[in-house]
Amino acid sequence: MQPSFRAVVLPAALLLVLPAAVPGDDPPLRGFTTAGAKIEREWETKFRAVPEPARMREAMRRLSLRPHHVGSPYDKDNAEWLRAQYASYGFDATIERYDVLFPTPITRVLELVSPTRFTAKLEEPALKEDPTSDQKNEQLPTYNAYSADGDVTAPLVYVNYGIPADYETLERNGISVKGAIVIARYGGSWRGIKPKVAYEHGAVGALIYSDPRDDGFGAGETYPAGPFRPKDGVQRGSVLDMPTYPGDPLTPDIGAVPGAKRLDRKDAITIMKLPVMPISYADAQPLLAALTGPLAPSSWRGGLPITYRLGPGAARVHLKLAFDWSLKPLYDVIAKLPGSTFPNEWVIRGNHHDGWVNGAEDPISGQVAEMEEARALGELVKQGWKPKRTIIYAAWDGEEPALLGSTEWVEQHQEELRQKGVFYLNTDSNGRGMFGVEGSHSLERFANEVARDIIDPETNASVAARQRASRVVDGNKEARTRSDLRIGALGSGSDFTPFLQHAGVPTLNVGFGGEDDGGIYHSIYDSFYWYTHFSDTSFVYGRALAQAAGTMMMRVADADVLPEEFGNLSETARGYIGELKVLRDSTARAIEELNRELSEGAFALVNDPRRPTMAPKGSAPAPVLNFAPLDNASIALDTAAARFEKAYGSLPAGAPSAASLAQVNTLIRQSDQVLLLPDGLPRRPWYRHSLYAPGYYTGYGVKTMPGVREAIEQKDWKLAEAEIGRIAAALLRESDLVTRAAALLEQATSAKPIP
Ligand SMILES: [Zn+2]
Repeated sequence: MQPSFRAVVLPAALLLVLPAAVPGDDPPLRGFTTAGAKIEREWETKFRAVPEPARMREAMRRLSLRPHHVGSPYDKDNAEWLRAQYASYGFDATIERYDVLFPTPITRVLELVSPTRFTAKLEEPALKEDPTSDQKNEQLPTYNAYSADGDVTAPLVYVNYGIPADYETLERNGISVKGAIVIARYGGSWRGIKPKVAYEHGAVGALIYSDPRDDGFGAGETYPAGPFRPKDGVQRGSVLDMPTYPGDPLTPDIGAVPGAKRLDRKDAITIMKLPVMPISYADAQPLLAALTGPLAPSSWRGGLPITYRLGPGAARVHLKLAFDWSLKPLYDVIAKLPGSTFPNEWVIRGNHHDGWVNGAEDPISGQVAEMEEARALGELVKQGWKPKRTIIYAAWDGEEPALLGSTEWVEQHQEELRQKGVFYLNTDSNGRGMFGVEGSHSLERFANEVARDIIDPETNASVAARQRASRVVDGNKEARTRSDLRIGALGSGSDFTPFLQHAGVPTLNVGFGGEDDGGIYHSIYDSFYWYTHFSDTSFVYGRALAQAAGTMMMRVADADVLPEEFGNLSETARGYIGELKVLRDSTARAIEELNRELSEGAFALVNDPRRPTMAPKGSAPAPVLNFAPLDNASIALDTAAARFEKAYGSLPAGAPSAASLAQVNTLIRQSDQVLLLPDGLPRRPWYRHSLYAPGYYTGYGVKTMPGVREAIEQKDWKLAEAEIGRIAAALLRESDLVTRAAALLEQATSAKPIP
């Protein structure tokens, strides 16, 4: 999977006026005493000189040479090679194995049976330009993992992106998908939402295709002439219901080790309940062209040279899918550098190593940066550097099917993570362009500080300066004045999810993107050839990523006081509360409006039998919600954050001993843990974070303060009221923790400096 760092590209003219980063002009380093900061900066400068683009290129060639999905011979080969590489850098490297349910296809049939006949090809042809595209014997066929087995013949209905709002449009046009096979285009949501919503509406099968308007010739020249999706290219991918829980569907909450208690497959609620398959636009076109019925609304029409219609009609489709449901092995590579002062505090870095096929971009572009970081840290150790905290570099297996490797590891080491987890830093696919950061808002200032120290290879400005200029060009007024650039909140779509949203480890996800558009995602064309022709072709952004991520790792591992800051967190939470109030009011107004129209008979004419359009249903008026508990908790957190920051500011002068700061650090590293909800989110207790979760109906897309936000969206006002109380309690726990940390810091910094 890949992060969505898709920023607007900055005009070259503006880049000329960016201030160049000035080495040596160092502001105080957050988390360090004056003396400590000087030493830290010296080591970091040495570190950033080590990563080499040529090594990343060679490692990508090696790791993407053959298909390496879960259970394949080359997946295991890569894991063993990675373990040996990390060991050669001086890490204590091991492989942790888990056995998980990962279905692979046995039978795939898709045909149009009336009014004409057409059999879908379901194959991506090899290209002579791309040397790894012809490894058919080792490639996973095009399919959606965790689709149900099935053999269905039914009328076809076009459902646009297949999100809940699209079904409202269908309903207004008098079209039901009950007993039908739906065809949805990719986009508008995470793919797994499409079959989930289709099933909820009574469909018996689902097809997902890549429309060329969004993903193909409508976006640009197609592969191999250009980077975009060719007509036979297919986006594989998982449809496991990960917004309910990710990881092995048979072992929720526990590591899938040998002998672990496993659910029966029929009781695993995250497995999709209908057959679903992804197809190319070449295979989709004859199916869509056979549809009759009403014209699709203009916003539903794609880039194919056909008239887009909704169906149903004479078009009937036969879909037959069968899978091998055996357990497959996972190989997580775990490499440790022991901490010299706090060996029981873990600073963790991860990127997955499995791909859908050759996976040069996703995930190897991130994995090769991670390797160069680890190699560089090993070089520093040889020169005498000792990280204070234990550093763990992980190469996860099985991310593509369901965040399998990271989730099983987090579930297996849950108790240890609660005691020892300090920071988790994730990357996945890397491209070129803007530096993107998402994660815990208590780390927003820290992320900004590091971004000022990393040079953008194209502009020679810092990546922070480039990011700021890009936002100003975008019309973001705040970017001119706010000293910290805002970081995004995390939904899902990569291995950060179990760390942040299940275990409460403070987390960031970083990467470069915006100038690397293409259409090879999850296809056989995500290859070394594609990457080295169309993305970060000289690996200079790979080096910048290694420099940024490695600097973050060193700075957290060595900090006297962990770098969290709570003013930005508090401000962000206040912003979310404001959004919830607006959402409640706009939802209430929409209900009022519709009820008024219904009472005035505005839909009286729609029950015309010649045009069977159904009238929408009214609902009860929205009650007033009491947001006071959230407002009060937010004020408390503001006060605590200000007191903490004041005490933190006296750190450089105070120079307290490490021992006196240990208690402060113990509190700070729990700052996301106390934001976890004891019983988790409604309907999906695996997700525990009160501020961040993937949307139940958006998939990867984040819902902030999800308990309240989704209750309002579902018009479940009683639940919304209860969730306000639970999030307010979490914010109060946070403000209590920050207050206690501030008091300890005041004590520590007012004590006499240790000579
Ligand atoms: Zn990925």
